[in-house]
Parts: sequence; structure tokens; C-alpha cells
Amino acid sequence: MPDIPFWNKCNNKCVMCTNLPSFAGQPGAHYGLKGQIGKLERYLKGLGPVYLKNAGRAEFVSLTGGEPTLHPDFFQLLSYFRARLPGVPITLLSNGRRFADGKFAGKFCAMARPPFSVAIALHGPSARVHDAIAGVKGSFAQTVRGLKNLLAAPGAPRLEIRLVLHKKSAAALRKTLEFLLENFPETAAYGVTAIHYEIEGMSLANHRRLALKLSESAAGLGDCLPLIRRFADFRLYHFPLCLVRKELRELCWITLPPEDRIYPDKKCGRCVLKKKCLGLMLEYYRMFGDSELKAIKK
Ligand code: SF4
Repeated sequence: MPDIPFWNKCNNKCVMCTNLPSFAGQPGAHYGLKGQIGKLERYLKGLGPVYLKNAGRAEFVSLTGGEPTLHPDFFQLLSYFRARLPGVPITLLSNGRRFADGKFAGKFCAMARPPFSVAIALHGPSARVHDAIAGVKGSFAQTVRGLKNLLAAPGAPRLEIRLVLHKKSAAALRKTLEFLLENFPETAAYGVTAIHYEIEGMSLANHRRLALKLSESAAGLGDCLPLIRRFADFRLYHFPLCLVRKELRELCWITLPPEDRIYPDKKCGRCVLKKKCLGLMLEYYRMFGDSELKAIKK
């Protein structure tokens, strides 16, 4: 199953958002209850291309935005998707702010029946760092409250905290990990995923402010290895294996479809890790080239 844009408006203005403002400018009616149900039914019947991203991946569904929890019929739609996709893992991608309302978080947890996970982006260890990246004052406090409410709710789905690494967030990585360990010490109750940012939408438009090489973010992760080891479930997305420390390689996942990735032949052609490796994100390759890669010979 593909990425499904649940709702096109958002209450954050993240500097590295992969959408352009024109997406939020589309009429909300395009994403209304009736329209979303119609699209899902067409997709399930195999009636032509309905969703654009990850359309060939039948094994999971990602509900994206905008901010999905702002959908005016969020719970009705959530209930419909859960019922029509029995047994299919659903991941809701959110900024977490709506979950600052305890009643909203509780209702969500009661409805998000397994297999279900919720992935929430945290941009830093403080309001100063997080709010500057999210573009909204007060968003850090709401996101942190939302995380706490989800962790406290009975029957909560798997919680994943996402750390998107770019120039504005990577310098604070160590402090962000320390913040999590101090404020969310039950590390078995959630997962953490560090993601090298994708160059698309606003992150492309803001690229001068965000530009960070994979080797730089991988080095920052390597420096934090002792902290990373303290989390029960820590994952890395979008990293070529040759750029991360050996000890971190087993944490790397391939989550992008083949059409969004490349294995430059001069570097990857003879690499023994190629089959287990993501290679390079295509947009990253276009922007930075492949000079950082080093084939692993044995
Ligand atoms: S050389 Fe290519 S295939 Fe090998 S680890 Fe690096 S990116 Fe992956």
C-alpha cells in the first residue's frame, strides 16, 4: 500500500517539510471523508493509479499529510481505514500536537487497533531548537505533551519518535537523545528513528539553510553511539552502509522504493554490502554526488 495523504493542511511550518505550500493550498474538499473513502475503494478494487508514492508496496500503509490529525472527520476516517484494511500495518505520521489533548489521544489509542503505529517528529531537545524548525512557537511543548499522553494511554499503538537530521537539527542530536532518555526513560515503550532528511518540497527550497552531507550526519550518529545503545529500538533511515560506523550498520533500514535510490556503479559495483544497502537517495546524489561512498570489499 502506498503513502496516503490523509489531509493537506498542517499547523506546523517545518523548514524541511517535503511538501510545498501549493499542496496545503489545494481545496480541503479533495481530502474530505467522501473523497478519501472513494479513493481507498478504487485502490482496493485495482481501478487505476490512485495514490502516487509507494503505490507498489502492498504490505503497509502510511497515513501522511499535511497533518492527518487535523482532518475534520479524522476519527471516522481512521475507523473506516482500519476496518477496510484488516491485518495491514498502518503508520500514522504526525507532528504530535493534537495528542496534547488527553481526550483526543485516548480516543485515538482506542481506535488505532493493531497492527498500528504512530510516528511523531521531534526536532530538538528544547523549545528554542524545535520551535525554530517547526516554525511555530509552542509546538515543542505540545509535541512533548502529546508523546507523554500517547505513552500513558491504555492500548496505545507502537510509538516511534522520529529525529530528522539536517543542518538545523543535527548539531543538537546528542542533547535530543539525552532529553529523550531523561524525559522518556522507559525506552522499551517506544522506538527512535534517526532519518537523514529528504531533499524535496520545502527542504529543497530551503536547501542552503539545511544542507548536510550524509557523512556528517553519520559521523554525528557515530559520536552518539553510547547514547544510542541505551534505546531498546533505534533505527536509521536513508543511510548508505559504508558511511555509518560498523556498530550502527545493523540499525539501518531500507524504506525507500527502488525508483528513489541509486547505486553509483563506480562505488557500489563491487561492494559486498550492496544487497543489504539503501545506496544513495536519488535527490541526494543529484545534489551532492557520490564522492563520500567507499565500497566495502570484505
Ligand atoms: S558502496 Fe554503495 S552499496 Fe556499498 S555500502 Fe556504500 S552505498 Fe552501499
